[in-house]
Amino acid sequence: MPRYDYRCRACGSTFELSRPMAEASAPATCPDGHDDTVKLLSTVAMTGGAAAPPQAGGGCCGGGCCG
Ligand SMILES: [Zn+2]
Repeated sequence: MPRYDYRCRACGSTFELSRPMAEASAPATCPDGHDDTVKLLSTVAMTGGAAAPPQAGGGCCGGGCCG
């Protein structure tokens, strides 16, 4: 049975439940009794993207327009 992570919006804690996939999106109750919970994405691929480095601006005086 798959396990799903939930976060309680009432107390901020996260908890895990084992439940059938058919009930994955069903309301979950916090261990503290709160029912204002949201389902978290448990399998998030965090692959580091190669962000382009910021280009150093030439500036006005670097281009010869100042003089
Ligand atoms: Zn709670």
